[in-house]
Amino acid sequence: MKTVSLELVEIHELAFSCLMQNGADKLNASALADTIMNAERDGSHSHGLFRLPAYVASLRSGKVNGKARPSASSLTPAVIRLHGDNGYAPMAHQIGIPELVKATKTTGIGVMAITHVHHMAALWPEVEAIAKHNLVGLACTPYMPAVAPAGAIKALFGTNPISFAWPRPGNTPVVFDMATAAMAMGEVQIAARDGHSVPLGTGLDADGQATTDPQKIAEGGVLLPFGGHKGSAIAMMVELLAAGLVNENFSFEAKEGDNGDGGPPRGGQFILALAPDIIAGAGWEDHCDRLFDRMSGMDGVRMPGDRRHKNRLSDAPRKINSDLVKKIRHLMA
Ligand code: NDP
Repeated sequence: MKTVSLELVEIHELAFSCLMQNGADKLNASALADTIMNAERDGSHSHGLFRLPAYVASLRSGKVNGKARPSASSLTPAVIRLHGDNGYAPMAHQIGIPELVKATKTTGIGVMAITHVHHMAALWPEVEAIAKHNLVGLACTPYMPAVAPAGAIKALFGTNPISFAWPRPGNTPVVFDMATAAMAMGEVQIAARDGHSVPLGTGLDADGQATTDPQKIAEGGVLLPFGGHKGSAIAMMVELLAAGLVNENFSFEAKEGDNGDGGPPRGGQFILALAPDIIAGAGWEDHCDRLFDRMSGMDGVRMPGDRRHKNRLSDAPRKINSDLVKKIRHLMA
């Protein structure tokens, strides 16, 4: 794969300018460019510049509002509804997360039910933003059908990611962020682009046969949930929390209402925040460090989130696929 080296500021500038030239205003372009740059910074390659052409497609088609002004309202002291104004999720998070943090600091628990939003990014930014305030964060969102429930050969669930961040005051939080599919579709698409195979159990081809060919999964095939029926149950839970409870589209409904422009459908997101200071009381940090120390001290174990957090420490330029950079520049021509 041919790459070009770009400084983080250049990545931001590229994303920001491209979004501005394709219908986003400054606030929305800046929120999304931050997310894209931070994904490249952390090595979340499937959710950085790689997604920009699809973001642009939905701005151009008018499906996504590039000038969104999300609005938050409190249903109870602990429950916030956030209307995303049909914009991209990072803009909604900028408005909503401070409200959620404020509520959770008072009540010990806070829920944010986000509607009318288009989410195609990684989910760690929102839970890390919560953990910064020494709160626990959990987030999930559906998508469009891509994953077959256990036993089926046709898609019903989205890749339905879940992220979780546990705060460690004075340290980076412990974070996991994962699709409930055996592999995120972005990773499958990247494997297809780069000519790599994927492990058996990742997905089925159009005939419902197991395959290691990412192209066959991405085009006409289907992903499988991780861990068989257990992952399938968790994927169903994501549908229920981030669509049933939030009162937005299930993945199959999102597809029915989508214009097929290649960008993310309209959907919802469920975000939960918890205050350990209130729920566990004093000493929770040291208590939980005992678990983390035991765990990370075991041979072969690395903590989830550590790879990204290590990448984050480097201010070296990032290597970006040169065809992708050309494609993005073409979108600005
Ligand atoms: P991975 O399987 O790559 O990683 C999942 C989690 O496991 C990460 O937190 C990762 O930490 C951790 N991890 C990986 N390897 C190890 C290991 N050996 N030991 C301990 N922990 C480990 O992620 P996915 O491919 O499932 O998902 C990729 C991204 O796609 C996510 O950010 C997700 O939010 C996003 N996504 C977004 C969707 C959307 O609609 N917006 C849809 C589906 C996915 P680390 O990061 O440090 O490697």
